[in-house]
Amino acid sequence: MNKLTDLTIARALSGLKSKEFSATELTKAYISSAEASRELNIYVEETFDVALQRATLSDKKLKSGDAGSLEGIPVAVKDLFCTRGIHSAACSKVLNGFKPPYESAVTEKLWDSGAILLGKANMDEFAMGSSNTTSYYGSVTNPWSPKGAVKKLVPGGSSGGSAAAVSARAALAATGTDTGGSIRQPASFCGVVGLKPTYGRCSRWGIIAFASSLDQAGPITRTVEDAALMLNVMAGYDPKDSTSVNKPVPNYALNLNQGVKGLRVGIPGEYQMDGMSPEIKQLWDKGIEWFKNGGAEVKDISLPHTKYALPTYYIVAPAEASSNLARYDGVRFGLRKSGDDLQDMYSKSRAEGFGEEVKRRVLIGTYVLSAGYYDAYYLQAQRVRTRIAEDFKQAFSNVDVILTPTAPSAAFEVGANMDDPISMYLNDIFTVPASLAGLPGISVPAGLSSEGLPLGLQIIGEPFNEHNVLISGQFIETAANFDSLPQYICGG
Ligand code: GLN
Repeated sequence: MNKLTDLTIARALSGLKSKEFSATELTKAYISSAEASRELNIYVEETFDVALQRATLSDKKLKSGDAGSLEGIPVAVKDLFCTRGIHSAACSKVLNGFKPPYESAVTEKLWDSGAILLGKANMDEFAMGSSNTTSYYGSVTNPWSPKGAVKKLVPGGSSGGSAAAVSARAALAATGTDTGGSIRQPASFCGVVGLKPTYGRCSRWGIIAFASSLDQAGPITRTVEDAALMLNVMAGYDPKDSTSVNKPVPNYALNLNQGVKGLRVGIPGEYQMDGMSPEIKQLWDKGIEWFKNGGAEVKDISLPHTKYALPTYYIVAPAEASSNLARYDGVRFGLRKSGDDLQDMYSKSRAEGFGEEVKRRVLIGTYVLSAGYYDAYYLQAQRVRTRIAEDFKQAFSNVDVILTPTAPSAAFEVGANMDDPISMYLNDIFTVPASLAGLPGISVPAGLSSEGLPLGLQIIGEPFNEHNVLISGQFIETAANFDSLPQYICGG
């Protein structure tokens, strides 16, 4: 048998069921692995004692035959999810020390199904970022490094800790959230699978809000099947979230290997950007070939408003963020600095509590929502957002899924792009359009860059058709046969 930390969820579940190993043994293996990888700064809060207690309970349940569907599976949870009595700070100083008295709906479902919390995963502050370098608790280091060089790379963001945890074997799976790419882009950078479900598929209740019309929870795993197993538990209607959609949750893990024969796969010309890196283009071409060889009908499509997606996102997301983050005023949550009067207390608490990127977004958001600019920026961005959604709707009258690269590059060095927010924002160029349209998307590792770093391909699907996204993702996984491991694990 492989090391316990090499198993997928599917394999671990069968091993637990057949008593090959216990939930306690599996949890202990992950705790050792998480301890050994502390230098990567993946966890901002470790809950190993609670995990071991929970594993004992899982072992009892496995014995008595009332195990849940993820019984005994040790997971990391992005610090954006509120966890009852356990530090939850969105990796911001303003929330440092906050222990919510409630549990997010998605994590509640995970615990009900028997999953075990190993700890809270590092992330960009309030999920704003593409490199996990804006966290109050410091950057995360990607477990991958370039061939023959010792360089610290970013894991992507904002769910960088979650993706690094799964890649470095510091968790069997993790939760992430994706507002403009924060599940898919770090998954691509860390060589793991990241699934952003349709907006409304998973409850946002208890997830610290960034941009409410975009935020969506989803799994980060090592395989597509594992993503389906996690989504089976995470998805579902929640009356506490008014944007959650009341649709039955199918079994996403069924028929994943059905292949892509006859599937209509769209290739959007507009994603072929000027100056696109040749290796990203080659990877995309390789993906197209795989689908053709698999019997899919590959078609060129047009999504004409693609070039407006990034500027639109960087108006809508900061606008919503500036409003959502108004609640951190030093009165009810987290950090409070004393001031001469109430206004001064607010200003000092916020000035001290928020990092630079968060302040930038609050400023942009407040500006685009202010009287006189609202129509020119915010309202206009909302109109363009509708056009972008219509582009996809039109495209989906001819195709079933859309294939694109996930990110314009492989992981970059810690510190790169830091003094140029625009170049940092360009990381999201391929992920943001689907977010604006609320569509499901997956990133699956598909190859290595010339430097030996993982690169992902993205599949975008129709609303609530996660099935097509997953079968296409499974098809890429099988075709790519991506079995490289991060240097951090294999020492290569
Ligand atoms: N990188 C994007 C941003 O900074 C997306 C973040 C996210 O999806 N949470 O806003």
